[in-house]
Amino acid sequence: MVYVALDDRLSLYSFPNHPFNNSRYFSFKQALEGRKILSLLGKINSRQAEIEELLLFHTPEYIDFVKREEAEGGYLDFGDTPAFKGVFKGSRIVVGTTLNSIDKAIEENTRVFNPVGGLHHAYRDKAGGFCVFNDIGVGINYLRKKYKIKNILYFDIDAHHGDGVFYSFLEDPNLYIVDFHQRGIFPGTGEKRERGEGRALGTKLNIELKSGAEDRDFFRELKEVREFLDTKKIDFILMQAGCDCLAQDPLTFLNLTEEVHREVTKLLLEIAEKFTKGRMVILGGGGYLLENIKKAWPAVIEELLLRGA
Ligand SMILES: [Zn+2]
Repeated sequence: MVYVALDDRLSLYSFPNHPFNNSRYFSFKQALEGRKILSLLGKINSRQAEIEELLLFHTPEYIDFVKREEAEGGYLDFGDTPAFKGVFKGSRIVVGTTLNSIDKAIEENTRVFNPVGGLHHAYRDKAGGFCVFNDIGVGINYLRKKYKIKNILYFDIDAHHGDGVFYSFLEDPNLYIVDFHQRGIFPGTGEKRERGEGRALGTKLNIELKSGAEDRDFFRELKEVREFLDTKKIDFILMQAGCDCLAQDPLTFLNLTEEVHREVTKLLLEIAEKFTKGRMVILGGGGYLLENIKKAWPAVIEELLLRGA
């Protein structure tokens, strides 16, 4: 069975008067109901990540800082990520839900989707770009600690570079990264020449898309991605399925359609079937036009369902 996290506690991760608010989560839920696929999916509950779990990736000083800033109502970064009332709990729920998703994927050798996960701009010791705690970073270290799973593929198609993941694991030879993003927008990182460092050289692949890029530009790059992945040993897949790469997103300038979500999901399912016993967790990521959320994420889920079990 394919699972989706649809616990309304996820709606607590919502910045007031801000593009990242809980209308995104509710639009997704509504879209699943509209397509009548909700009844085919298993449900994952949410929970708050324990402090000990946050510490798998984040520094204790940063965790205290988030708590303190919430009381003071300031910003967690330089102006993108406000410390709204409830931010500490809401952020812990996003991480806890991703960890529950990982547990279920492993328990049943299956695919799990968490629409509010994928907070790829948070670093170990700082927030950034609407991301407070990095559920991906915590998830990677959780997979390694709890399940002894070392070789992980992180595949990110959000329009923004997943800098918080990329640079935190820059020297990690067992974390493979494929990151598609638009060149020249926030956070301004992720050049093609950056391929990992030290023993990890060659384990990361940045693919920069130009403003206005269309599906055919994206698909042209998939050949290199396939070659890159061909030689890698992968035991678990984390996908960040940001849909701010679709046309008309208010924060980016790409011209893609949800076909890229479908194709990438198919590619990852092939890898999962061959190498990971089908285990894969998909995280929603960015996307600030509700119509695009309603198209892209259900498209991913439809592909997951088509591949059955
Ligand atoms: Zn984004």
